Amino acid sequence: MIRKIYKFGGASVKEADAVRNLKQIVENHKNEDILLVVSAMGKMTNAIEKVLADFRAHDGQLGWEAMTPIMEFHEKIITDLFEPEKVDAVIEKITLLLIELYDKLQDTHKAYDYQYDQTVSYGELISTTIIAAYLNESGIPTRWLDARKYVITDDTFRSANPDWNETRLRIQKLDTEHIRGLVCLTQGFIGSTNGGKHATTLGREGSDFTAAIFANCLDAEEVTIWKDVDGLLNADPKRFKETVKIPHISYSEAIELAFYGASIIHPKTIKPLQNKNIRLNVQSFVHPDMEPSVIDKENGMTIPSHIVKDNQTLVSISPRDFSFMNEHNLKTVFEVCDELRIHANMMQTSALTLSICFDHDDAKREALMESLNKSFSIKYNESLQLYTIRHYEEGLEKAFIAGRKIYLEQRSRATAQFVIG
Ligand code: ASP
Ligand code: MG
Repeated sequence: MIRKIYKFGGASVKEADAVRNLKQIVENHKNEDILLVVSAMGKMTNAIEKVLADFRAHDGQLGWEAMTPIMEFHEKIITDLFEPEKVDAVIEKITLLLIELYDKLQDTHKAYDYQYDQTVSYGELISTTIIAAYLNESGIPTRWLDARKYVITDDTFRSANPDWNETRLRIQKLDTEHIRGLVCLTQGFIGSTNGGKHATTLGREGSDFTAAIFANCLDAEEVTIWKDVDGLLNADPKRFKETVKIPHISYSEAIELAFYGASIIHPKTIKPLQNKNIRLNVQSFVHPDMEPSVIDKENGMTIPSHIVKDNQTLVSISPRDFSFMNEHNLKTVFEVCDELRIHANMMQTSALTLSICFDHDDAKREALMESLNKSFSIKYNESLQLYTIRHYEEGLEKAFIAGRKIYLEQRSRATAQFVIG
């Protein structure tokens, strides 16, 4: 029975040394019945997106040289990784996948979302093919699994939803065939529509979600996400000088943090784990001996966390007849927001005005203004930041906000939020 799921993202397999490091981690745990869920290498998902855009701009009429960036990146890793006499065999395998990819890139008459999934999924297929070959070569018996045969989804291409019943059946069947001591390895991010005919993807950064899907269906003990940071931090080290590691938080706290924009784990990851009470570890692949941050049902810590969301638009909506922003007016506005799928990251009402802060989207903002124009006047500001502090303590916002304009602020018992320019 598979007990543990290890998820390795693009950064953890971005070059040959990184793959060697992955091997070392797997070597140390190879007898623990693990399933590895691995992403495309480095920035390969972005690279394939770009090649796809090129093909679409040229009606699919591009020569094989358009594949060069993808081919060379992987070939370099392969030549760095394998003994010279093994290199050709691995490159041959990858070339077969690249030929399939090249074929699918030419189908530019198909809908974009559909073609996206048929092509971008090759990042993961190539990555796992290389890594499975390397693990087997290094004396770690590894079974490569095609995630498209296990993660069965609907046909919402680029943001597919799992068919849980079908997916569970297939994954449980896999588990009954599991051979002790064999490491299983599959792709994150990808699945297929029923029948396995068409590849689907679960949305960018969706490999965490894949790990959670397998864990839920297997009733696994734990999921470990191996990252280039020491665990869950209370702020993004790129923005804040002094960060601390959060040793332990609850599922609901992790969901809150993801909601405010913390890019720690894909937001869909937590629920499937919470439902089965499966522990989630966030662990450093750079310092694998360091204790992970743990997310589970216990309450854990309440260290203040700082979360910044860029590119926010703030609209202020007031009734033209100077009536109050009452329930009737709110209902009118919310109905339009719902229709336009405008998701409020923060909002506030005063006597005459409703303010809503949401992710920048010109088309949505214009549509909102047009729909409400008759009865409401609307002002807006763009390029703002939404700054949230969970477990707020007096004064904590000062350093980040110093000298900047605050457009809106709000405090509840546990959370303070600021929209700043
Ligand atoms: N490779 C995909 C992406 O970059 C999925 C993932 O990394 O989680 O979005
Ligand atoms: Mg990635």
